[in-house]
Amino acid sequence: MPKPVVYISRCFGIRRCRYDGDWIIDDNIETVKKYIDFRDFCPETGIGFPSPREKIRVVCRNGVQELFQPATGKFFTEEMVRFSTDFINSISRFDGFILKGKSPSCGVKNTKLYDFATGELISAGASGFFAATLLDHFPDAPVITEKSFEDTTETVLFLDKIFKNCGGTPQALLTELFSRKR
Ligand code: SF4
Repeated sequence: MPKPVVYISRCFGIRRCRYDGDWIIDDNIETVKKYIDFRDFCPETGIGFPSPREKIRVVCRNGVQELFQPATGKFFTEEMVRFSTDFINSISRFDGFILKGKSPSCGVKNTKLYDFATGELISAGASGFFAATLLDHFPDAPVITEKSFEDTTETVLFLDKIFKNCGGTPQALLTELFSRKR
């Protein structure tokens, strides 16, 4: 049975690469990983950040979104856009992406956006820089975050797409996912 090729955020139980030096163990993602051919990546360590590190955030400055690290006062927008573009251009085959929600790099339409001047929260529905670049390049790519696996319809839609892409079926995975939830 062919397995879909899925790129996933490295902090999903693969490496302790988060800002706080930790990783995320998510039961749904751990189950999904058994059924896919996963390739991991971490945009923040990709641009040279250590783990742990000072937090970064997406800010709006003069109407433009930037990646900012409040503790150092530095911007990392250019580095992140360059890394994301190079990485995405280097991918020759994929069936889908599973990204870490709410991250200033990997979040998909659930990342916090702050006003640079005031520090006030503008929106909790922005995307991280890597995710935004990915959606620009591949607007029809199946992309999901861990939160979406809590929703049956979103889970089925995503898994159907990625398995269809590679000529397989998600039935066994769906059975395991949903039997665990009972
Ligand atoms: S969310 Fe993305 S950038 Fe942040 S630690 Fe995970 S893989 Fe790295």
